[in-house]
Amino acid sequence: MSDRMVQQFMEMVRIDSESGNEARFMQYLLGAVAEVGGTASLDGYGNLIATFPARGCEGAEPVLLSCHADTVKPGVGIEPVLEDGVIRSKGNTILGADDKAGIAEVLEALRSAEVRPPVELAVSRQEEVGLLGVKELDFSRLTARRGFLMDNDTLDTIVVGGPSYFAVDVRVTGRAAHAGMEPEKGVNAIQAAARAIAALRLGRLDHETTANVGVIEGGVIRNGVPASCSFLAECRSSDHDKAASLAEEMTRTIRAEVEASGAKVEIEVDEKCRAVRIPEDAWAVRVATQALATVGVDAKAVFITGFTDASIYNNRGIEMAVVGIGAQNEHSTEERIAVADMEKAVRALVEALRIAAA
Ligand SMILES: [Zn+2]
Repeated sequence: MSDRMVQQFMEMVRIDSESGNEARFMQYLLGAVAEVGGTASLDGYGNLIATFPARGCEGAEPVLLSCHADTVKPGVGIEPVLEDGVIRSKGNTILGADDKAGIAEVLEALRSAEVRPPVELAVSRQEEVGLLGVKELDFSRLTARRGFLMDNDTLDTIVVGGPSYFAVDVRVTGRAAHAGMEPEKGVNAIQAAARAIAALRLGRLDHETTANVGVIEGGVIRNGVPASCSFLAECRSSDHDKAASLAEEMTRTIRAEVEASGAKVEIEVDEKCRAVRIPEDAWAVRVATQALATVGVDAKAVFITGFTDASIYNNRGIEMAVVGIGAQNEHSTEERIAVADMEKAVRALVEALRIAAA
């Protein structure tokens, strides 16, 4: 089992699929799903949706399994290396275990499960750049009301929720002027932006709320009063109302400070994700915990401050627990995964399917 899965995993990471560029990999997956007895097609946005018939049981409720097809950068030309039971990249790229190890494990579990309920599989695009794919997923094609998102790194945690998240994009417009000859004719956009940023409450604001400015760009030449400056801010909280009112507060503060500097400002606030938390005794959490215990993993339910496709599923009424795939150092060129952990994840998933079929 492990050779077959490892070969397929290495084959998959060799197919480039940075966010937005998943088409070729999706074509591969259409074939891979057919090979393990499923029926797959792409929805209008290019997400893959597949179904697999029940095996060794009758009348069981369907289960949704989900993964994402895209990887972060640098993810072009990945060369996987298997050494001492651990798979890593050659070092100049990520490995792409996030989330192709999840996909490889799901395919292997579907191949080897002797008993399973009807299974639906959804593989989203563009997860890493704001859950864009799952937000456009054709939910009318899903009948399962519960399942597992295979997209957590460690096996010993089960993610039960994530925060509300607001992206705040700010563009400050001042007026250009020669910095030495006639600075009084200018309005310094960088200074106006700096004043606004300095007035923001940033960092950890309470036990469940954070805010950040992560990118700033502006100006063209040293000796010119800059006419434009833009910056990217965010805030998140596990309490939706707190995140929403913080986004409003940030908007107000930025507007007031920029305008007091004599510059103009455009602010775009985008609610990227809405906080959700499933109970720790929810079906998906209980089954995942029980299944992981059979492979010797004592998994704890955790709420994370990042977000996954599960936030969207749960908000749409499909109960999804996020289960580990066994990867380490995701989103870095140090990303790696032990074959033994992939095997554990598969055995746990096979067990979860068996429980779901009972
Ligand atoms: Zn992921």
